Amino acid sequence: MAKFVLIGSGLAGGLLAAYLGRRGYEVDLYERRADPREGNMVGGRSINLALSTRGIDALEQIGIADEVLEHAIPMRGRMIHPAAAGSAPIFVPYDVDPNKHINSIGRAALNTIVIEAAQRYPNVHVKFNHKCTEVDLNSATAQLINSSVEAGVSPASGNAIIEARGDAVIGVDGAFSAVRQSMQLQIHNFQYDESYLAHGYKELTIPPGPNGSWQMEKNALHIWPRKSFMMIALPNPDGSFTCTLFWEFEGPRSFATTKTDDDIRRFFDEEFPDAVPLMPNLLEDFKSNPTGSLVTIRCAPWFYKDKVALVGDAAHAVVPFYGQGMNAAFEDCVVLDECLAEFPEDRQRAFKEYFDRRKVNADALADLALENFIEMRDKTASKTFRAKKKLDHLLEGFLSGIYLPLYTMVTFTRIPYANAARRARVQDCLVYAGLIGAAIFVVASILFLIHAIS
Ligand SMILES: Cc1cc2nc3c(=O)[nH]c(=O)nc-3n(C[C@H](O)[C@H](O)[C@H](O)COP(=O)(O)OP(=O)(O)OC[C@H]3O[C@@H](n4cnc5c(N)ncnc54)[C@H](O)[C@@H]3O)c2cc1C
Repeated sequence: MAKFVLIGSGLAGGLLAAYLGRRGYEVDLYERRADPREGNMVGGRSINLALSTRGIDALEQIGIADEVLEHAIPMRGRMIHPAAAGSAPIFVPYDVDPNKHINSIGRAALNTIVIEAAQRYPNVHVKFNHKCTEVDLNSATAQLINSSVEAGVSPASGNAIIEARGDAVIGVDGAFSAVRQSMQLQIHNFQYDESYLAHGYKELTIPPGPNGSWQMEKNALHIWPRKSFMMIALPNPDGSFTCTLFWEFEGPRSFATTKTDDDIRRFFDEEFPDAVPLMPNLLEDFKSNPTGSLVTIRCAPWFYKDKVALVGDAAHAVVPFYGQGMNAAFEDCVVLDECLAEFPEDRQRAFKEYFDRRKVNADALADLALENFIEMRDKTASKTFRAKKKLDHLLEGFLSGIYLPLYTMVTFTRIPYANAARRARVQDCLVYAGLIGAAIFVVASILFLIHAIS
């Protein structure tokens, strides 16, 4: 059986190792960080994430969905916190079916479960504290440095640099992938595009209430939409909420200009008055937590011969506003596994099929995620948005199986992202045409009646 060298045991790396292990491949998985079970968890990325149908389906196929969902909190809709002082939050369900929900899951718990799923296969070997510095594409060889040496700790083996050679190397090493960088350097005409938002993000905490209770509605994703920026909060099993402020890096009112305790307090008092009393560590969190950047990465191709492939954020990092980056990365694992099964004797064909099936959908998701930022931070605050959601749910109920709102298709089905986006555009045109037709009919009827009476 072929040997795969995987770089990165984040969310997709662990899951992909499990899929490849199940197929009987030899898998060596290298991760630059320490073992997450030793408590050194994943800094610099979100603490919790929204897991939905695509991700759950991928976990189910490897038999770990139930275990993961035990750690998750269902979120049945958005709880919108208006700007006007004293206004009560407004709940907007995600779907006409109240059983459809997304799930708030801790990154650390999920990462541990996927790594343990991979390690159940004796042919999968996970090696922490190994950072990939480059890959020689033609020989499928990764150069790795023992990261504990970098940190000034002597490794037990004494070797600082090692080479890992496989039949293929797969880069599952996230948005700033070292494997992708090697492809950029070694593949003529490799296409690469990265674009950063003017907004960054900062995580803050609402701690648990008395006896581990939740201080806001537990089964909702909370949003404070403020037009050009927003804060969101997802529940955690310990009663806390992780809040994320998405705000401009620069500008008169921005991360850059909000430095002193007074600045921070004034900004939060003005914009999020109902959240402030629940955030006793606000000043400390704001000053000590890093401000992350938000990047969209598009590249092509995602493979080199039968030697190298990219999966997850390494191939297609998207901004987090559709809650789909991880779900899409998990779906990549399913599709790559299907392609390897379809072409067991021709790995290059399998990699190409995987790329052809996923690239168009990753591009569609990147656009959807950018558009959804505007919906979340601005439109969710408006009555028109809530009316549109009600109309969506009405049509979905009446035209069951025919009309599916875009959010439903993206979040609660495995309809390919590009098809979902296309279908939503057609549906919108038909709905608007229908509404205009209905309006014309009403006006014409009134004119006819007036004419008949007079
Ligand atoms: C603020 C925020 C909120 C988000 N919310 C959601 C959400 O609600 N739902 C959702 O689906 N997605 C969400 N995402 C996106 C999600 O985090 C990513 O899509 C997901 O983590 C991608 O998984 P991955 O395994 O491809 O990459 P990662 O999870 O980034 O894992 C990459 C791994 O590779 C390792 N690594 C990196 N470089 C090297 C190297 N040189 N050598 C060895 N190892 C290396 C890293 O240490 C890491 O463990 C969010 C992202 C952000 C930033």
